[in-house]
Amino acid sequence: MNATLDAAAVDCHPASLPDFTPLSDLRDLQLQRLQAVVALAYREVELFRNRMNSCGTVPSDIRSLTDLARLPFTTKSDLRDTYPFGLFASPMKDVVRLHASSGTTGKPIVVAYTQKDVDVWTSVLVRCFAGCGLHHGDIMQVAYGYGLFTGGLGAHYGAEGLGATVVPTSGGHADRQIMLMKDFGVTAMCCTPTYFLHLIDRAAELGVDLKTLPLRTGVFGAEPWTESMRAHIEKMSGIEAFDIYGLSEIIGPGVGCECRQHQGLHIFEDHFYPEIVDPETGEPLPDGSEGELVLTTLSKQAMPMIRYRTRDITRILPDPCECGRTLRRIDRIGRRSDDMLIIRGVNVFPSQVESALLQIEGTLPHYQILLTRQQGLDQMEVRVEVTPQMFNDKIGALQFLQSSIQSALDHVLGIRVRVSLVEANSIERSEGKAKRVIDRRTA
Ligand SMILES: [Zn+2]
Repeated sequence: MNATLDAAAVDCHPASLPDFTPLSDLRDLQLQRLQAVVALAYREVELFRNRMNSCGTVPSDIRSLTDLARLPFTTKSDLRDTYPFGLFASPMKDVVRLHASSGTTGKPIVVAYTQKDVDVWTSVLVRCFAGCGLHHGDIMQVAYGYGLFTGGLGAHYGAEGLGATVVPTSGGHADRQIMLMKDFGVTAMCCTPTYFLHLIDRAAELGVDLKTLPLRTGVFGAEPWTESMRAHIEKMSGIEAFDIYGLSEIIGPGVGCECRQHQGLHIFEDHFYPEIVDPETGEPLPDGSEGELVLTTLSKQAMPMIRYRTRDITRILPDPCECGRTLRRIDRIGRRSDDMLIIRGVNVFPSQVESALLQIEGTLPHYQILLTRQQGLDQMEVRVEVTPQMFNDKIGALQFLQSSIQSALDHVLGIRVRVSLVEANSIERSEGKAKRVIDRRTA
């Protein structure tokens, strides 16, 4: 069973990974684990017990995987309301690790792991990295933040489990990141996609050509990003870029990851059961339909999660992947249901702005949306950084660029926005997740 942690097995015998378990065996395992986790949640966690009692479905009613849909949802506010330890199903003496994520308001949400949970987390990250073509002998720089955030330590344990050499740089200090990448012969980078964009820009300023380095793989996650951004990253750095998915409430990074087909992200379904529901009504939707991803942990001990609403909008891809994994895939997540901006009654997602900009030569994928309200009317301004060459060109070129962006955005969004071109590096950079939207509208 521990074949997944054996680097040689990862290299030579991919069929030994649980990723390739025959479908009927996988479904049997899922049902067995689902019944166990629902029973654990009911027995040990008051919130789950009360919810199940009030909806009239108790653990013994779960006889098939479709019975899962009879159970109530769990939301982020449940984690806030039970702060700090109200959802734990294990006594504190069995909890070996706590992580927390900063909420936008007030208290953070807290998540817990037993030793077995940490081992599962490591094993799914090993499977992620193996699916990206990484193995024993790779040198992996982990530039996700280390600390309460799950990104850094999660990727770190996974890389060690794979048998790679880990360079735990954590976030920040771009010049040092680039120096170590070069001097240590780093072959794989793990960070947020926007941070890697920042490193691409900074490397160019320092005269370091990333394409000449041994770096060949990037595993990017913790924020939604687009196919156009992947194309940009691959073109500018010469690497193969993979999308990894996860969230602290479920385990951290490693819930799912792309394989080398780059056709969606395989979910490690033996540990995390995915459903897609209508975000408005909560009704389950069939595979292939777009909706909100809901996840149930199948093996988590310290903090099981039943039907957690991720707010991420995607769909389950119905066809099998060419790589042969039996694990179902989700589409790349471009947006979250709570990312949606409503501007003059029109739904706008920041990812639409990003995709439009990446089609236009001369712009950098750095932008910021500024929302204001003037005389009761919403105004949207998109600030776009342009390449230094553009600012050196004649003023006519800038005007042409501005009108190209204007018409691209009008076309994609269906509303009139104001476009401001700004110099490279003039929009504030975050070391981790990008701050794409500043909303100064007051109710
Ligand atoms: Zn695949």
